[in-house]
Amino acid sequence: MAAPEERALDRHLRPASLEEFCGQPDVVRNLELAIRAARERGEAVDHLLFSGLPGLGKTTLAHLVAHESGATLYEASAPTLQRAADLAGLLTRLEVRDVLFIDEIHRLAPAVEEYLYSAMEDFALDILLDQGPSARSVRIDLPRFTLVGATTREGLLSAPLRSRFGIHERLEPYDPATLTRILDRSAGILGVGLDPQAAAYLAARSRGTPRVANRFLRRVRDLAQLESDNHIDLDVAQEGLTRIGVDAHGLTRVDRLIVTTIGRADGRALGIKTIAAAVGEDERTIEDVYEPHLLREGFLVKTRQGRQLTNAGWALLGEDGRAPGALFA
Ligand code: ADP
Repeated sequence: MAAPEERALDRHLRPASLEEFCGQPDVVRNLELAIRAARERGEAVDHLLFSGLPGLGKTTLAHLVAHESGATLYEASAPTLQRAADLAGLLTRLEVRDVLFIDEIHRLAPAVEEYLYSAMEDFALDILLDQGPSARSVRIDLPRFTLVGATTREGLLSAPLRSRFGIHERLEPYDPATLTRILDRSAGILGVGLDPQAAAYLAARSRGTPRVANRFLRRVRDLAQLESDNHIDLDVAQEGLTRIGVDAHGLTRVDRLIVTTIGRADGRALGIKTIAAAVGEDERTIEDVYEPHLLREGFLVKTRQGRQLTNAGWALLGEDGRAPGALFA
């Protein structure tokens, strides 16, 4: 989960139209088609499910779907919808074609999820009044709206919920060239100069993730503001990332701790619980934020027994079994 100040930066740098959204061409094309077709029919866009790692643009796309269809977006995160009444409160505010965005939708409470089924399918809510012998239910009709669900763990979504989304789009990590474009655009908004070499350096270390690229840019901008007249050249970019503990591979302190922890198991595979306890991060953060990058870069493999280092992973460790950077002395 992004910290509140990062969320504010996310909002500030969010593309204002689908045209400004960089990369993910297939997803953008499918969305444009769905929005245009729905608009021509005068209907709400089909319910949409976005899956992919944190920071790849799921929330941004939900905003853009609402914007491009001239609708209002209401945002909620599944863990805050504890009771069916929380969901009913949101749904009854909607007007025709509005977009309800539910983040982390795989974490919905089962009772809340069941209410969502009839809301999505029949555009109605059956609310139970009273309990025991006097129990009765009333049906509330809802306007035709679009539910946009976002998940970092598509596999944890229940089959009935998944099947109620008409459109599924999976966001993939971005290539460095696209991240460079995103950084250029963000630098323009933040009013800081960014050399092409510096942009490429930051992009290559951004874990395929626009949110990480924007976070790096902000940190490096601070340095540029104080030391190089608000201009980021390659030296400033390198110095800025070193200061926040990002190494030449784009690995952070936590990544290196994970590699070191597994290395210390002397070839035994380690389970996620053990790794989380050793590193001091929660299991979900390790699985959603750190591990995908280490797996993609080929430093780790996941086997039935647990996580193990690859040869490239072992190569990161020094002779004494510590990751380079000696942050763990
Ligand atoms: P998610 O919901 O998947 O965690 P967000 O939509 O909040 O990710 O995106 C994180 C940040 O990255 C936001 O500032 C967003 O504007 C920016 N971003 C994400 N994808 C893109 C993109 N394709 N083009 C430009 N900026 C993007």
